[in-house]
Amino acid sequence: MDRISLTLAARQKGLCPLCGQALIVGAEYEPDSPREWIDWFDAMKKRLHKHHFTYRRDGGSDEVKNLRLVHSECTDSIMRAMAATNSRFCEAFGLA
Ligand SMILES: [Zn+2]
Repeated sequence: MDRISLTLAARQKGLCPLCGQALIVGAEYEPDSPREWIDWFDAMKKRLHKHHFTYRRDGGSDEVKNLRLVHSECTDSIMRAMAATNSRFCEAFGLA
C-alpha cells in the first residue's frame, strides 16, 4: 500500500472519477480509519491504476496533483475508445 494511493482515494472520496463507481466495492463511504482503506487496497491493488493527467512522456510528474486513482478496467476502456477515434493517439502510444 503506498501513501499516494491512499491520499488520492481520500481526495476522491473513494470514487473512480471515470465511471463514478466506488474504487473498491463496499467502500462507498469514508472509512473510520485509514487502516480500513489500506486493507481494501491490499485486496484490490491489481484492479486500480494511478492515472497521470499529464503523461510522464509529456513532462508530467508523479506528484499527487498530477494523479488520480481509477479502475484499471476504466483506463483500458478509455484507451481503447481514444485509440478508435484518434489516430494521433494511436501513434503516440504505439497502437497504430
Ligand atoms: Zn471506474
